[in-house]
Amino acid sequence: MLGRYACIVPARLPSRFGGGSCYYLNEKDKRYMTDFTGLGLAQPILHAIADEGYTTPSPIQAKAIPPLLEGRDLLGVAQTGTGKTAAFALPLLHRLSMNAVKSRPNQPHALILAPTRELAGQIGDSLRDYARHLGIRSRVIFGGVSARPQIKVLNQGVHILVATPGRLLDLMNQRHVRLDGIEIFVLDEADRMLDMGFIRDVKKIAAAVPKRRQTMLFSATMPKTVEGLAASLLNDPVRVEVAPAATTAEKVKQSVLFVPKDKKRALLTELLKDKSMERVLIFTRTKHGADKVARHLQQTGISSDAIHGNKAQNARQRALNGFRSGNTRVLVATDIAARGIDVEGVTHVINFELPNEPESYVHRIGRTARAGAAGIAISFCELDERYYLRDIERTIRQSVPVEYDHPFHSDEIANDPGTKKPKPQQKQRQGQRQSQGQSQRQGQQRQSQGQRQGQGKGEGNKGQSQSRRRNSQRSRRPARMAA
Ligand code: AMP
Repeated sequence: MLGRYACIVPARLPSRFGGGSCYYLNEKDKRYMTDFTGLGLAQPILHAIADEGYTTPSPIQAKAIPPLLEGRDLLGVAQTGTGKTAAFALPLLHRLSMNAVKSRPNQPHALILAPTRELAGQIGDSLRDYARHLGIRSRVIFGGVSARPQIKVLNQGVHILVATPGRLLDLMNQRHVRLDGIEIFVLDEADRMLDMGFIRDVKKIAAAVPKRRQTMLFSATMPKTVEGLAASLLNDPVRVEVAPAATTAEKVKQSVLFVPKDKKRALLTELLKDKSMERVLIFTRTKHGADKVARHLQQTGISSDAIHGNKAQNARQRALNGFRSGNTRVLVATDIAARGIDVEGVTHVINFELPNEPESYVHRIGRTARAGAAGIAISFCELDERYYLRDIERTIRQSVPVEYDHPFHSDEIANDPGTKKPKPQQKQRQGQRQSQGQSQRQGQQRQSQGQRQGQGKGEGNKGQSQSRRRNSQRSRRPARMAA
């Protein structure tokens, strides 16, 4: 304390933050003092955090914010739901506000890359909330919607640009945005970015950003490909790791129900008779499967919608809004579409089909344990999925309790050791996954063509579609959880 004032950032700021400026907290502002105060963030940011109702930094925030304020690069191993957005957004806003940078047309100061439109949108929302007492402008650009308003906003000048790779490359190629003024570069959900075939796009974008910058890379998992990307982008980074898969899984009350494939729908209808299942997120492996389940539920009088990559952006947003507002009780999603969905109060996650990548299981069930809340995750397991269950249990380092008390329990499935990889079926599934990825890419390509034809829709450009196709021809290796 310094008399009437408390200095809430170090008196001498690192040179990367413009040297000796210091932000003072006066008596009036003490009402914004929370456990965040000691981290050294500017007062308007503390004010916004207090508005949000945050009182204590989450573990990733406590670990990441101090080194980021020192200007260090960061490798963050954390999932959505851990508070990682604020972990990178708050120091980023602090730095821009301390440097009092002006927004410039088409030349942002900070870039945040996100793999999906939903995640990009949510990051944009968070930035707007955290920057509400600062004069810092952030905007989000993504494909699937008209580029025109985005171009207009870029012309007006933004400090922070949040973007999906395809649309950003499009607008870079059309010279609506240049990255040579980027001081802070954030890559969010890097593992998913690579899973979705964005590696070439990410590299192209990174090459357009100045070498002298602060870089933060966040990833839920740390497969070798992400390690490689991190090594090429980060300079002597601090590595911060929170909530490894197993700990997130521990917060959720999990159960598995052994049920023949052809009884899954009946079981689902049976379970949904339980009124305590207020806001239910159901996962399927394929888009087609998601549509089928949503349709089945609608036919049985249960309000439901599906969200997946084949749907137009406004249909996805509508589905999400309906689910958020409580008008839609059940949302059926595929893994990729669900990435980054941040809906509070999801009472149950149901794995209608188990994922063949164990990490996806962890991501899925994490949707029902947002911001420290407990949640319930119910998994249906047919005979062919026994193997996947075994893989999942190995990853989360615990066995999932079996629920026998339901009308469709199958002892045959329960007693199967799950040691045999379901070869023919897996091929089919891989085929489905590939065609899912391909049709998504094709959809993006179609949109891109539409955009070139002046229809104002698009996600990628031709080069990007080609690079995605090239990527799809390589094996799409599943991301592996760090040991
Ligand atoms: P994220 O992992 O960034 O998607 O954040 C997950 C959720 O946690 C979001 O709804 C945030 O608003 C919320 N959140 C982030 N940080 C905190 C905090 N320190 N205290 C309470 N909620 C938080």
